[in-house]
Amino acid sequence: MSLVPAAFLDRDGVINRERGEHTWRMEDFEVLPGVIEGLSELSNAGFALVVITNQSGIGLGLYGHREVDEAHRYLHHMLLGHGLRLHDILYCPHHPSGGRCLCRKPGSLLFERAMARHGIDPLRSVMIGDRQRDIDAAAAVGIRGILVEANAPLLPVVMNQVLNA
Ligand SMILES: [Mg+2]
Ligand SMILES: [Zn+2]
Repeated sequence: MSLVPAAFLDRDGVINRERGEHTWRMEDFEVLPGVIEGLSELSNAGFALVVITNQSGIGLGLYGHREVDEAHRYLHHMLLGHGLRLHDILYCPHHPSGGRCLCRKPGSLLFERAMARHGIDPLRSVMIGDRQRDIDAAAAVGIRGILVEANAPLLPVVMNQVLNA
């Protein structure tokens, strides 16, 4: 099986609005403008779409896997309604206060898992994130990172820094 390129995306601040606090209630889960268009361009260009997100609010006891799963089911279905397949969403549920884990970005375990699961070529892939730790996690497995402002429109990033690169 030949490997595919993937666009890895951070969640909060890239897909949905970064509010400066944990987001788990559906009424706070606001998909940012241009996300569907940006993901469509990536998908049309042959990129698998994978979201990798730190959800330390679980480790803090603020919310549970159930709330995260609900938000992610919504995202899958909403995108499917636009003809878009999100290949995977992987999240780290740990908080650093509970000890160090390998899955929390800048750890790269979730990238490794996604690459193995979906046959992803790191050298043709990108990671779009709004924190340095997103970029560092990707760099650890040889994936080019694109650091963006939180809540920046995705479409210009895709057009100028992924498809034109
Ligand atoms: Mg973020
Ligand atoms: Zn973790």
